[in-house]
Amino acid sequence: MKIEIIGSGVSGLCCAHAFVERDCEVSIIAASDALDSTCCSWWAGGMLAPGCEGESAEPLITTLASESMAFWQTVAPAYTNAGTLVVATSRDQPLLNNFARNTEGWHRVEGEEIDQLEPDLGERFSRALFFADEAHLDPRQTLGHLMDTLKKRGLTFTQRHIDDGPSNQYSSTADWIIDCRGLGARHVLPELRGVKGEMLHLHSDEIKLTRPVRLLHPRIPLYIVPREKGLFMIGATMIESAERHRASVRSVLELLSAAYALHPAFGEAEILEIGVEARPAFTDNLPQLRRRGKTLAVNGMYRHGFLAAPAMARRCVEFALDGIIPSEVMNENTP
Ligand SMILES: Cc1cc2nc3c(=O)[nH]c(=O)nc-3n(C[C@H](O)[C@H](O)[C@H](O)COP(=O)(O)OP(=O)(O)OC[C@H]3O[C@@H](n4cnc5c(N)ncnc54)[C@H](O)[C@@H]3O)c2cc1C
Repeated sequence: MKIEIIGSGVSGLCCAHAFVERDCEVSIIAASDALDSTCCSWWAGGMLAPGCEGESAEPLITTLASESMAFWQTVAPAYTNAGTLVVATSRDQPLLNNFARNTEGWHRVEGEEIDQLEPDLGERFSRALFFADEAHLDPRQTLGHLMDTLKKRGLTFTQRHIDDGPSNQYSSTADWIIDCRGLGARHVLPELRGVKGEMLHLHSDEIKLTRPVRLLHPRIPLYIVPREKGLFMIGATMIESAERHRASVRSVLELLSAAYALHPAFGEAEILEIGVEARPAFTDNLPQLRRRGKTLAVNGMYRHGFLAAPAMARRCVEFALDGIIPSEVMNENTP
C-alpha cells in the first residue's frame, strides 16, 4: 500500500513509523527541511508527563500517553525515566495542595527527600510532589533519530510546500494521504486554532537538574527541562493566538523571572535561544483523526504532541489498513 504523509513534525514521523512497521511504501512531503524551526515539534519541551497534565487535560490524554511512552522508550535515544518534581514557594503552598487535589500518580516529598532527588533545589523548597512514573526526551534529537531510522527503512522525504488549490483537496496517486500539517491545515480544518507558546534555551554549568521541574505560580507557572551539557529548556507560555514568530518582552521577562525564582544561578545563565510557536488545537484541546475521501488528518495535538502522537499514529494505521474506527478520537460524521 502506498502512503503519502504531509508534514514531518512529531505527528508525521510517528505516522510514518507506524505505516513502515506495516510494510507500506511511505513517503513524507514537508514544507520544512525534514525538521526545523518552522515545525511546532522543534520547540517542544519533550515532557512525557500525563500525571501533571491531568491537572487540566481530559482522561483520554492519559490513555494515549501510556501507549506513547512505551513507544518512545524503545525509539528515543535519550529517553529519561526520572519522573517530574512539582514545587511551589512557601507563599504558594495552597497551589501545591490544589495541584495535588487535581492530579494522580504523585507522592509528597519533603526536605531530605527533595535534596536526594534534586540536590540543587533541596534547600530552596521544603515541600514538593513527585510524579515518579513520568519521563522526558529531547525532541530535536528524537525526531532527527526517527527520521534517519525511517530513511534507512526506505522512507523517502521531499521538501515541498503543498498547496491544496482552489478545491482545498490535495490530490495524489497514493492509496492514503495522511495530513499531519499541524496549523498548516487550518484552511481545511477551520476549527483548528493556535495556542502560542514562548520558550527559552539557557545554558548554565552552575545548576544540575536530573528531571523536569515545575514551579507553580498563580500567573506564571514554569517548567524547566534539563537537556545534556548544561542546557535547559524553560517553558512555556500559553496564549490564545496563532501568532508564531514574535516573543514578547513580557513573556520572556516572566519566564526568566520564574526561572530565577526557582534558582538564582539562572540569573547568570546564558540565553541561547528564544523560541515561539503555536500549538495546533481543536476546541476541546484533544487530538482527532478526520477523514475526507482518501485523506486522513491527524491533528489537534495541542500541548500533547509527544504524549499523543504515537498512539494516534497506531489508530490512524488501523483505520487505514484494517478499517477499525477509533471512536474515542474519530467521529466518522465530522468531515
Ligand atoms: C513551547 C512548546 C512546548 C511544548 N512542550 C511539549 C511537551 O513538553 N510535550 C508534548 O507532548 N508536547 C509539547 N508541545 C506541543 C507539541 O510541540 C505539539 O503538539 C506538536 O509539535 C504538534 O506536532 P504536529 O506534528 O502536529 O505539527 P508540527 O510539528 O507543526 O508539524 C507540521 C509539519 O507540517 C509541515 N507543513 C505545514 N504546512 C505544510 C504545507 N502546506 N505543505 C507541506 N508541509 C507543511 C511543517 O513543515 C511540519 O513539518 C509543546 C509546544 C510548544 C510550542
